[in-house]
Amino acid sequence: MFSQRRKFLVGSTCGLGLMGLGKAISLFAANNSSLAEQRVLEFSRLVEGTVIGPDDSGYEGARRTFSFNPRFSKFPALVVRCAAESDVIRTIAFARENELPIAVRSGGHDVMAASSSDGGIIIDLQQLAKIDINGQRVNVGPGVRAGQLDFQLGNAGRALPLVCNPSVGTGGLTLGGGLGWFVGTQGAACDKLTSARVITVDGRAIIASNEQNQDLFWALRGGGGNFGIVTEMEFETFSKPEVIAGVVVYDARLLKEFLAFYQDFMSTAPDELTVEVVAYDGEVPMVAAMAYYSGDDRRAEAVLEPLRSFGPPLADGIRKQEYGRTGVLAPDVAPHFTTPNVELTNEPRENGLYWQGISISSLNEQTINSIDDAMNSAPRGWTFGLGHIMRGAVTQVESETSPLNRPFGSMTVHFDIGWAHNSQAAECMNWVDSSIDSLKVSASQHDYINYMSTDNHDAVMAAYGENYSRLAQIKQVYDVDNVLNGNRNIRPNESNY
Ligand SMILES: Cc1cc2nc3c(=O)[nH]c(=O)nc-3n(C[C@H](O)[C@H](O)[C@H](O)COP(=O)(O)OP(=O)(O)OC[C@H]3O[C@@H](n4cnc5c(N)ncnc54)[C@H](O)[C@@H]3O)c2cc1C
Repeated sequence: MFSQRRKFLVGSTCGLGLMGLGKAISLFAANNSSLAEQRVLEFSRLVEGTVIGPDDSGYEGARRTFSFNPRFSKFPALVVRCAAESDVIRTIAFARENELPIAVRSGGHDVMAASSSDGGIIIDLQQLAKIDINGQRVNVGPGVRAGQLDFQLGNAGRALPLVCNPSVGTGGLTLGGGLGWFVGTQGAACDKLTSARVITVDGRAIIASNEQNQDLFWALRGGGGNFGIVTEMEFETFSKPEVIAGVVVYDARLLKEFLAFYQDFMSTAPDELTVEVVAYDGEVPMVAAMAYYSGDDRRAEAVLEPLRSFGPPLADGIRKQEYGRTGVLAPDVAPHFTTPNVELTNEPRENGLYWQGISISSLNEQTINSIDDAMNSAPRGWTFGLGHIMRGAVTQVESETSPLNRPFGSMTVHFDIGWAHNSQAAECMNWVDSSIDSLKVSASQHDYINYMSTDNHDAVMAAYGENYSRLAQIKQVYDVDNVLNGNRNIRPNESNY
C-alpha cells in the first residue's frame, strides 16, 4: 500500500505528490532546486514507505504531533513514513548528505513536538509496529502504541509496565523512561528493556543489550533519542496480574482538600496502588482519581476505602477489570467526562491546545495553594493533571543500570488548556506558563525527561544530574557530530561537573 502511494507521489509529473515534493525541495535547496529535485525523486524511488512533502494532502496530519502545541508548530521539508528498517538507513544518509536536520517519531506524543522539525526531515516509525510475543519476552516495533501492546500481552497472559495513556508510542516512552500503572511494583518501561536494535547515525544496524554495546544499552534506558534510531525493542514481561481499577469523581470545589488528602494517602499506600489525578473544566468542573490496584484481592477493599469515601464522591467506577482492557469508563462515571468547556465568540472557530509539565518534589501546602490559585484564575477550558509518583520498584533501580533519575516521592504535574478562537490563545497560554512558573519553587531537582516541555539545556543537564557526563561520553562514541539533536539534547563529550 505504501509503495503504491509512493509511486503515485513521484510517478506523476503534475500530480499533487510531486508538487508537494517540489515545495520540499525549494525549502532546503533554494539555490539549486533542479539538483535537489533530482535527489529527492531518486530518494523517493528507493524508499519502500511514503515520502510526504508540504503540498501533499497528508502533509498537515504528517507534520503534526499528537500533543500539538502552537509554540512548537513546525514545518518539515519532508516526512518519511518508513515501512522497513532499510528506509531508516536510507533516510539518515539522505538527510546527512543534504544537511537536513533529523527528527525521529514513534508515536508522536512528544510534549514539545521534538518529533517534528522546521525545514528538516521526519523519520516516522509509526509503521514499524510489529508485536512478537515469545514466552516471557516480547519484541516490539517502536511505532506500537502502548495500549495495543497492553492488549496483546494481556491476551497472552503477560504484562509490561508501560504508561497510563494508551495512545503513547512505545518508542519515545521507553527511551525516556515510561511511568505507568505498575511503577511501584515493576518500575519503568525502560527497566524491562532487554535489548534494542539501533541504527546509528552512520547507518549501521547494531544491537544494544547487557551482552553487546553495554554502554549504549545503559544510555537507551532513559537517555532519550540521542544515540541512534531504535527500530526494535525486546522486553522481559511479567505474568498478567489481577486488577481492580477505575475512576472516582469528586466535586472540583474540593480540589484543595483532595490534594492534601492525596499526599497523605499515597505516602502510606502500598506499592501495588497507583493513583493519577485529573481535574478539568467540563460541563460541570470535576476532579477525579484514576486508581489502579494490582495487589492481593483480599486487601483491595481496605486499600481503596479512603479514596472511595473522600468527599463523598459524585461517582465511583472502581471495579474488577482486566489488564490491557481498562480504558472503558463505568456508566455512572462517563457522564462526568464531558469535553472541557471553551468560551465561544462570533469569531471563526480555530481550536488550539497548549500543554506544559513539570516535576515537583512533593505536594506541600505551598504547592497545593499554587495549584488552587491557578485553577481559580483559569480561563475556560482548563485541565490539570498530577501523578507518576516515584515510589517502590522504580526507585530501587541503581544508576549503573539506567540514567533515569528517580527521586523518591517526586511527581509530575501538568496544566493544559484548549480554546476555540485564536484571539483566546495568548491568555490561555499565559495561564499555563504562569501556573507552571508558580510551581518552580517546589520543582524536583531532576525533571522527568518525558514530561519536560522545554529544550533548555541547563534543565536537561539537571534532569540527568551525575549521569549526564557518562551520557555525553556515550554520545561522543555514537553521534560525535550531534546529528540527533532535536531532543532533550545530550552534547558529545560535555561534562556536567
Ligand atoms: C497525552 C499524553 C499522555 C502521556 N502519558 C504519559 C504517561 O502516562 N507516562 C509517561 O511516562 N509518559 C507519558 N507521556 C509522555 C510520553 O512518554 C512522551 O511524550 C514520549 O516521548 C512519547 O513517546 P512517542 O513515541 O509517542 O513520542 P514521539 O513524539 O514519537 O517521540 C518522542 C521523542 O523520542 C525520541 N524517539 C522516539 N522514538 C524513537 C526511536 N525509535 N529511536 C530514537 N529516538 C526516538 C525522539 O527524540 C522523539 O522526539 C504522555 C504524553 C502525552 C502527550
